[in-house]
Amino acid sequence: MEAIGVLMTYPTSTYLEQQLDKRFNLFRLWNVSQKTEFFKQNAGSIRAVVGNANIGADRELIDSLPALEIVSSYSVGLDKVDLGYCKEKGIRVTNTPDVLTEDVADLAIGLILATLRQICECDRYVRNGLWKKGDFKLTTKFSGKKVGIIGLGRIGTAIAKRAEAFNCPISYYSRSEKPGSKYKYFPSVVELASDCQILIVACPLTEETRHIINREVIDALGPKGFLINIGRGPHVDERELVSALVEGRIAGAGLDVFENEPHVPEELFGLDNVVLLPHVGSGTVETRNAMADLVIGNLEAYFNNKPLITPVV
Ligand code: NAP
Repeated sequence: MEAIGVLMTYPTSTYLEQQLDKRFNLFRLWNVSQKTEFFKQNAGSIRAVVGNANIGADRELIDSLPALEIVSSYSVGLDKVDLGYCKEKGIRVTNTPDVLTEDVADLAIGLILATLRQICECDRYVRNGLWKKGDFKLTTKFSGKKVGIIGLGRIGTAIAKRAEAFNCPISYYSRSEKPGSKYKYFPSVVELASDCQILIVACPLTEETRHIINREVIDALGPKGFLINIGRGPHVDERELVSALVEGRIAGAGLDVFENEPHVPEELFGLDNVVLLPHVGSGTVETRNAMADLVIGNLEAYFNNKPLITPVV
């Protein structure tokens, strides 16, 4: 397989790079300065792309690679891969489901606790010597609060399971009601937001779910409601969220993802009712290595004419 060209789009994991390097002829897109020249020289041998949540395989990249047969994404979300175009061109697509579910669900609960109990603000309070001047203000309880989840898939279900341990009543919205689910279904996001105190976004980013959190949903959540986003940044109309937070029309937000990463609206930096994370939902050594193994496993399966482990297209 050493002759097979594999183009990695983004420097996500040294372990993944090493493993790809051992097996294939690895090209690193981030090291390419002269793109036209690079594609002219190498496109003929590049049969696979390894993308991630930052840079996947859009129409332009696919069109630059006439020998492309498979896109193996180091992510479960495929919003950066042009799935329709891959299907049209007979290019296979794989992702990394399941192996990251627990980490992302753990982080969602961490974000809820950090936001409601203002854990990061408490930490800054101690570090800045403010405790000596007085006790920290009271915050708000997580246990027992009504949790609403947008997207009751692998991650949404894992979050629900964890929130149950905090005695939280759970409800959800997705395109279809999940048969056999014990959680309450709402047929619209606005109805879900009106009924819950903590609204969590855990659905895939598609044209349908872009700005699924808009002004109407934020207003339905209300001044006592919290928003937690561990999906993708563009799920949220960020301008609307920032103004709602600044104006106190929503109680707070815990955000792992942003519309224009790594840029985060500076208005949020001064607010103590928000917790801001640098897109680290699956960011543990164990999980990232498991994701890398799945990327490699899919590529090896494909080039050995075996069934793909986690096929999407
Ligand atoms: P999944 O198992 O496919 O679940 C997706 C859920 O979303 C399903 O319940 C689906 O139900 C629902 N859904 C799909 N389209 C929808 C729509 N238009 N409106 C409302 N609900 C919709 O996916 P997963 O493994 O749980 O991953 C979910 C997402 O989490 C990924 O796509 C990714 O973007 C994000 N993620 C983020 C991080 C991070 O680091 N922050 C890490 C991993 C994943 P229906 O089909 O019935 O609508």
